[in-house]
Amino acid sequence: MELLFILVTGLAVGSFLNVLIYRIPLEENIAFPASHCPKCEHKLAWWHNIPLVSWVTLKGKCAFCKTPISVQYPLVELITGGLFAVLYYKLGFGLEFISAAIVFSLLLALSMIDFKYFAVPDSLNLAAIAVAVVQPEFVEAFQNALLLAGGFALLRFYLSYFLKKEAMGEGDIMIAATMGAMLGLPGALYAIFLSALLAMLPSLLARDNKVPFVPFLALATLIVYLFEDFFAQLGALLYA
Ligand SMILES: [Zn+2]
Repeated sequence: MELLFILVTGLAVGSFLNVLIYRIPLEENIAFPASHCPKCEHKLAWWHNIPLVSWVTLKGKCAFCKTPISVQYPLVELITGGLFAVLYYKLGFGLEFISAAIVFSLLLALSMIDFKYFAVPDSLNLAAIAVAVVQPEFVEAFQNALLLAGGFALLRFYLSYFLKKEAMGEGDIMIAATMGAMLGLPGALYAIFLSALLAMLPSLLARDNKVPFVPFLALATLIVYLFEDFFAQLGALLYA
């Protein structure tokens, strides 16, 4: 019963993430006006706003002008629902769950925006860092956030110097701060290494096309967060 409630909350949060993903890069107000079709601007009725259900019953088209609605909408809702379910499975319900659910929801929104624009808004990034460091081990989380952000900034200076072009984005440095606070050390380092591995194949396939990096950082952060025991054992083997 509780899981069903978590799942439905996840779908609803995913629906709100879609609003953030659509409106923040356009610098629109995220609360007003009410949801409308971006094409015909017709205001949506409440039954056009039910996560997942509306997209399916409308067959992926605007109810008024029949413009196709991006599959991004149900996809983000589904992913958020799944995200909430796995976090609940790991943490149970409590403050830690709420904090993790917010941070990973923000990382999902940042991933989608990076995917669309190859840039991420500071507002969501700074919100993720703030929520990630507020936890019982605040000082440690804050130190790890600074360490990771500093390390990433340094890496960026070196890469940019040797590649003779701007390497990585400032957004990646802020994501690294969130990773440090969420995963600690050495977990955050495992996640960065894993993200590079995950990004390798898409980068090769894309050849000269740009590949957004934030989705891989976010995915790797989630994997290391969920399987921290496995990575701790791996670390113990490496250091033994
Ligand atoms: Zn329309």
